[in-house]
Amino acid sequence: MPARYLVTGGAGYVGSHLVRALAVRGDAVTVIDNLRQGHRAAIPEGVRLVEADLADTAAVDAVLADGPWHAVFHFAALSLVGESMREPFRYLLENAGNGIRLIKSCVRHQVPRFVLSSTANLFGAPETIPIAEDAAIDPGSPYGESKRMIERALVWADRVHGLRSACLRYFNAAGADPDGLLGEDHDPETHLIPLAIDAALGRRPELQVFGTDYPTPDGTCIRDYIHVSDLADAHLAVLARLDHASVTYNLGNGQGASVHDVIRTVQEITGRPVPHRIAPRRPGDPPVLVASSARLRRETGWAPRFPELRAIVRTAAAWREAHPAGYGD
Ligand code: UDP
Repeated sequence: MPARYLVTGGAGYVGSHLVRALAVRGDAVTVIDNLRQGHRAAIPEGVRLVEADLADTAAVDAVLADGPWHAVFHFAALSLVGESMREPFRYLLENAGNGIRLIKSCVRHQVPRFVLSSTANLFGAPETIPIAEDAAIDPGSPYGESKRMIERALVWADRVHGLRSACLRYFNAAGADPDGLLGEDHDPETHLIPLAIDAALGRRPELQVFGTDYPTPDGTCIRDYIHVSDLADAHLAVLARLDHASVTYNLGNGQGASVHDVIRTVQEITGRPVPHRIAPRRPGDPPVLVASSARLRRETGWAPRFPELRAIVRTAAAWREAHPAGYGD
């Protein structure tokens, strides 16, 4: 019998790339997604989709009762840092509340393994780069705080109930499925790479560069862009670790790219200029966020297949050129 996995938020950007990786391996996958941000068209054939909100504990319980499950992957969440600064309690109540309720249901239904999409936003404005797992936690937003609360709930779920978990703190997820079947389709889109590509393709107004007076070589913020398929691979790589103990990993490429680096790369890949103008800083943006993923590499053997920014932008641009309306739903 194939291994059975439950993926919350499996119709979303990162979740859908994991669902596809599991389905390609021949695993049996069930997705729970409320389709507020996710897309039905991102779910491959043969994968069961339960359209439900995680706040609906009866629906979640009914799915979990139909075990046994090899692991639960928890992606479903509100994920806009800026929005969370305007609506902190919505993020804390919805993200942390739903996450903790899901963990409780997993314990009740004897799920042995749990993998959480966590975030680099836990580290606020870190002093040491690259950022390792033991860097000081000081969430930069209610979004980051909500993920921290779920991480803490998982510590207690392990200590009290023996639920093993992996917290994966993503840096900047980017790019698209190299086979062109999945991509990034957010509404609203706030991320740099898809906005820069759309500006180059003439589908959006000029890109705003949020601040050129940061203490970085070219004055723009530096981020660690990691290919979404590499993120998906890391979820598979950590599963074996959970036979021994719960784990926490920072998950990035380990190299930084500035906003200007991204603009230049998008210009090279699309062959078109990226119209842009200088705008004020965006509140809450730290100057530099680059991960150390040394622990993940050492302990699991994971390594990114697409570490180059060019490959990340190439797959993202291919998706957006082929899907002008995204998933079209
Ligand atoms: N950024 C920008 N213009 C935009 C969107 C983003 O200059 O329209 C910058 C942003 O300030 C940050 C970087 O690009 O330094 C990456 O932002 P994104 O929103 O993609 O990811 P984040 O780092 O906020 O998770």
